[in-house]
Amino acid sequence: MIPASPAVREMPRWQAEMARAITQPAELLRVLALDPALLPAAERAAERFPLRVPRGFVARMRRGDPDDPLLRQVLPLAAELDDADGFGSDPVGDLAARVAPGLLHKYAGRALLVVTAACGVHCRYCFRRDYPYADSGARAGDWRAALEHITADTSIREIILSGGDPLALANPRLRALIEQLDDITHLQRLRIHSRQPVVLPERIDDELLEIIAGSRLQQVMVLHVNHANEIDAALGDACRRLRQTGITLLNQAVLLAGVNDSVKTQSQLCERLFAVGVLPYYLHLLDRVQGAAHYEVPTERALTIMELLRAELPGFLVPRLVREEAGAAAKSPVYSTPEPRHGLREESARVP
Ligand SMILES: *Cc1c(COP(=O)(O)O)cnc(C)c1O
Ligand code: SF4
Repeated sequence: MIPASPAVREMPRWQAEMARAITQPAELLRVLALDPALLPAAERAAERFPLRVPRGFVARMRRGDPDDPLLRQVLPLAAELDDADGFGSDPVGDLAARVAPGLLHKYAGRALLVVTAACGVHCRYCFRRDYPYADSGARAGDWRAALEHITADTSIREIILSGGDPLALANPRLRALIEQLDDITHLQRLRIHSRQPVVLPERIDDELLEIIAGSRLQQVMVLHVNHANEIDAALGDACRRLRQTGITLLNQAVLLAGVNDSVKTQSQLCERLFAVGVLPYYLHLLDRVQGAAHYEVPTERALTIMELLRAELPGFLVPRLVREEAGAAAKSPVYSTPEPRHGLREESARVP
């Protein structure tokens, strides 16, 4: 056996796993026994937004299946290079919501801190794939101005750690940040938006649990799982440990063509989530970021899926279908207009 270099040996296991993620399209195709004809397009698309996927996540994909729903979230495709009308680099108005470097304040009572540019996985549909992290303060890990802003604005009761992926941050830096947030007396809640527990369940190590549990703030973690196949025993175990620590677990998914745009896939996802102690929170319509147009599901189809999902699941397992609109006061719920066959319009028409 070749001994690991000291640097690798001293790294926590999740960091070593993150460092040895697959980043070469040729390797991904080889590991999954996929057609090498996919390679030239994958390499071209990866030049704009690099491929990155941890090996443990690849292990949950079906070998030899180019349509695998997990693969479809990470494999660079030629379609990403097409210019699509209505798609841009800042689809949800993040830049206009910046109140300090790395701090986005869009909604009442809560603000979102972009703590790092790094992610354990690169999701091809990511709405922040073009985010200018370099001038957000996140890259330098300098949160001073953001913390000053939060301290001065007593209307902020909840802070959301986001990125990138906030759990791509090493434990000592996360501890320092959370301790500083603890000191801001008007804060009540700490929310962590992360996909790390999904793609790198080993990230949920004892030290992280101790850091989060040590905070005086109420704790919520919003995971990002799009398909039931992402939920394996290791993720289930990570969720159990997070819950034992007292953290409320929610999930947000993105409705993606070819990944989870069917009633069956959505209902399996919601039931599997609950089986590991996670409640479905949001189902997002795609944010219209350039390069992701081929993932878009028409709103009418999304509404049909939701209607059938409501007929299939208990109410508490049905996520809220939302769209993010730049400048809106919250994520906007997407409802169907009641059809006459529901009797609502006919009823009201009969009222004198
Ligand atoms: C999505 C988002 C939130 C959180 O919204 P909730 O509806 O509370 O989940 C907060 N701030 C920003 C900037 C966001 O984009
Ligand atoms: S984990 Fe989240 S922020 Fe990172 S690439 Fe995926 S969608 Fe984007």
